[in-house]
Amino acid sequence: MAKRFSASEYADGILAGNRLILSRAITLVESTLASDQQLAQQVLDQVLPHAGRAVRLGITGVPGVGKSTFIEALGLHLVAKGHRLAVLAVDPSSPRSGGSILGDKTRMQQLSMHAQAYIRPSPAGRSLGGVTRSTREAMLLCEAAGHDVIFVETVGVGQSETAVHGMVDFFLLLMLAGAGDELQGVKRGIMEMADAVTITKADGSNEVAARRARREYQNALHLFPLGASGWSPDVTTCSALTGQGIPEVWSVVEDYVRHTQQNGYFQQRRQEQNLHWLQETIRQGLEEQFYARPAVQAQLAAVRQLVLSGQRSAFAAAADLLEL
Ligand code: GDP
Repeated sequence: MAKRFSASEYADGILAGNRLILSRAITLVESTLASDQQLAQQVLDQVLPHAGRAVRLGITGVPGVGKSTFIEALGLHLVAKGHRLAVLAVDPSSPRSGGSILGDKTRMQQLSMHAQAYIRPSPAGRSLGGVTRSTREAMLLCEAAGHDVIFVETVGVGQSETAVHGMVDFFLLLMLAGAGDELQGVKRGIMEMADAVTITKADGSNEVAARRARREYQNALHLFPLGASGWSPDVTTCSALTGQGIPEVWSVVEDYVRHTQQNGYFQQRRQEQNLHWLQETIRQGLEEQFYARPAVQAQLAAVRQLVLSGQRSAFAAAADLLEL
């Protein structure tokens, strides 16, 4: 068994940019063991003053849109510019598949070997809440380790988008030309969250369709009212194969950061996210405490039966349990 580090040993290693210790610290924040969690919180406390200086970019799009290829291309562009990149993922694995779609080792081969890049798959076998929390904490650890750009990747379906949107500064939606909105699971909600949309695979015979899609999405996005950021979402095209449009995506992110740092929205959004996390953590903690109570555990099954059989209303039954 590997030696168990103290909180300061973890913190020192992380601040020195030691990848092995960073990885082990992330494993610690992902752990559900109470003793690991306690140590993880001590480590986070110590490194927190050194976190928060990265640009946090959320990236989403349906499987097949070209996310891995895009992240590899944009990532290599960034490390070439001297950035240090961490790629994390929020991908609550379905109980059916049991594994993480984003955990595939063959993805981003060049980037994963680069000394300035750190890639970490989504923690497996956790609920969305659990994955979101540990990814957020992993992000802070990566920042403390000196990574100045963080990508948080997620699959373009469901609630994981909202979760990732809640932890990043900029949210990028990748779309295919001509695949139809429904096919891409693009609900108005996801479009509304996007700070930029990029049409992928704009190369070869697909280029014309990509440019057309770009105009269409640009028009669609203009119908949305400007949010509190005062930023009007950009639509671009790119090809991860030819590299066309990849630097432009990063320019858009830089423009956004400049714009929102000037008008104060950047800081405001982070503060709101922190308050949200405070609330969320309290809520989760209370829930865990509640279900861990022996009296609740002893009576839960019986109370559920009463509700199922209609002998007691859900509200009254909940009140009974909460009284315990
Ligand atoms: P993901 O499922 O969203 O991560 O998508 P992948 O990155 O695995 O890409 C899905 C498929 O699209 C692969 O066969 C890629 O080779 C292809 N692909 C990705 N990017 C491009 C691109 O820029 N141009 C073209 N023509 N194909 C691409």
